[in-house]
Amino acid sequence: MNLKKFLKPIKKNLKNRDRPFLTIRQLYTHLSDFSNNEILDYYNVKTIQELEQHIAYIKDILKNQRQNYKEELEQISGCFCMDGNGAFKYLYQQKIEAEKQIEHSFKNKKVKLTLYPCPYHNGWHLKRI
Ligand SMILES: [Zn+2]
Repeated sequence: MNLKKFLKPIKKNLKNRDRPFLTIRQLYTHLSDFSNNEILDYYNVKTIQELEQHIAYIKDILKNQRQNYKEELEQISGCFCMDGNGAFKYLYQQKIEAEKQIEHSFKNKKVKLTLYPCPYHNGWHLKRI
């Protein structure tokens, strides 16, 4: 068997599989030294497929930017971020609101949350820790 010939498609496949991560690193320079797993974590997704969906969604928004960017933004409460189930995340405008929610969730549901800044807009999101 010609090993090189055999490995070539695999290599190509691996490169394509990494493409969403490369896209993210190029688009968002503050994530440029994140590992693949750190990027998944950052977007609160578990698989590269979910990350691809997220990118496709952002691209779609950017494509329509000129026509109806404002309407789109209003529709999605000012933020593109989704949770692991593909639902939009709530954007907290004030850090203190997010902190109150963290306290509330822990007291009432024993769910530990942490906040992080939304990468697109001014505000905060919560994620489980
Ligand atoms: Zn967001």
